[in-house]
Amino acid sequence: MTLPIVHSETYQRHHPTFEIGSGGRIMPYYESPQRAEIMLEALRATSWAKIVTPEEGRHESLPLLVHDGDYVWFIRNGFKEWLATNPLLPEGYPPTYYPSCFPPPRARRRLKGEARLNAAEGYGYYTFDLTAPLIEGTYEAALGAATCAMTAANLVLYGDRSAYALCRPPGHHAGRDFSGGYCYFNNTAIAAKILSVRGRVAVIDIDYHHGNGTQDIFWEDDRVLTISIHCDPRMDYPYFVGFADEVGAGAGEGYNLNIPLPPGATGEWYLKTLDLVFDRIRLFDPWALVIAVGFDTYGDDPISKFDLITSDYVAVAQRLRALNLPTVLVQEGGYNTEVLGKNVVAFLEPFSS
Ligand SMILES: [Zn+2]
Repeated sequence: MTLPIVHSETYQRHHPTFEIGSGGRIMPYYESPQRAEIMLEALRATSWAKIVTPEEGRHESLPLLVHDGDYVWFIRNGFKEWLATNPLLPEGYPPTYYPSCFPPPRARRRLKGEARLNAAEGYGYYTFDLTAPLIEGTYEAALGAATCAMTAANLVLYGDRSAYALCRPPGHHAGRDFSGGYCYFNNTAIAAKILSVRGRVAVIDIDYHHGNGTQDIFWEDDRVLTISIHCDPRMDYPYFVGFADEVGAGAGEGYNLNIPLPPGATGEWYLKTLDLVFDRIRLFDPWALVIAVGFDTYGDDPISKFDLITSDYVAVAQRLRALNLPTVLVQEGGYNTEVLGKNVVAFLEPFSS
């Protein structure tokens, strides 16, 4: 009984010191390196977690599997270009590139060549909120997380029953050409794209927040079914996307399923919702499953409003496991550092058999 846990130390390179909250408040950055440390430590203490280092090498073309080239360029180079413009920096913080200007609706046009080099303001084009700043080590960390997802996907592609990628930063809010929601490269989408070389793949996102980036990437794709169970966007982030009538387009029409739940949703609600989702997955008949795992559905999560408890994660995992599909698990959110360790262990253990 083992489960490969793919983990890279590169997550430590990304450590923004603050985020700009509602009302302009400066707050500690919730998506902290401590999250990964805590989960790794808890997993190391189990008898079944087999810690695996990611495949060697710098896989710099990996994000291009699911992201546009100019976007990847900006995540890789934007911070350095911005710093070279000698921006005015607030005192007491390391240089942190937050955008200050966003394109108005209908004014977003493809930036090429010289336009993307306007690093002083260019990031507003490539991000949809103020939670994904660029700092010195952001690209290294995001590439490291993507490499973890790739490694886990390759393990499953070549015969492992399940594998977990302890990705940080997370990825499910990052779309084809945008960051946001603490996310830069979409690790879940990268895993799904790799697995799709063998056939149909189902993605189920069980983070509290809508997996809007994954939806965006596979919007017109009928080989990857994207499903997200999340808090109703009328009530919580990402507010403008994640509604039930978003079903995909073109060849992908009917291959995106959003199930918004109201704040206060309990484990019981959640399990009933999963049963509905399973019917859709069986009909789709995938060869593999990717689970975007978030523990911000926990009752005491500091930024969320669902009401799951630790034993609910065991029940959710057992049902997902019972689908009996080769499975890649990719870490997304979860911000209550007191319980992240026990929740990740509770959720992953059913996949170790
Ligand atoms: Zn989340």
